[in-house]
Amino acid sequence: MKKCNVCKKRKPEFRFKRKDDGTLKKTCKSCERSWWSHILRLMVKERRLTAAERLGNRLGYMGSAFIMTSPYLLPYDNIGAYTYLVGAVLSLPQVWLAKQWNLVVINLNLLVGYGLYIFG
Ligand SMILES: [Zn+2]
Repeated sequence: MKKCNVCKKRKPEFRFKRKDDGTLKKTCKSCERSWWSHILRLMVKERRLTAAERLGNRLGYMGSAFIMTSPYLLPYDNIGAYTYLVGAVLSLPQVWLAKQWNLVVINLNLLVGYGLYIFG
């Protein structure tokens, strides 16, 4: 007998699925197959991130950190403007791969705007 973690009832072991490592699952079979969880599983497409997407995510976090610190660095000899440029360049691959075109436009605008501010 084993207790299900969803319905909290004690049921015989054949009511539980076995995992790959041979141990029994914590949820009994009848709780696993509710019509709602079935619908939810149908709607979610399971997939892993590609290498480019993972790299883009990490660069994006770094870029966000640069953009976050930039407003506080602007008074010091305009270092903030350069960190804005670096942040925009680092964030661009992530939003490009995710096809978040509004953020792509914002990053490009950041590049052009602060590029003109520094070099114009
Ligand atoms: Zn159950």
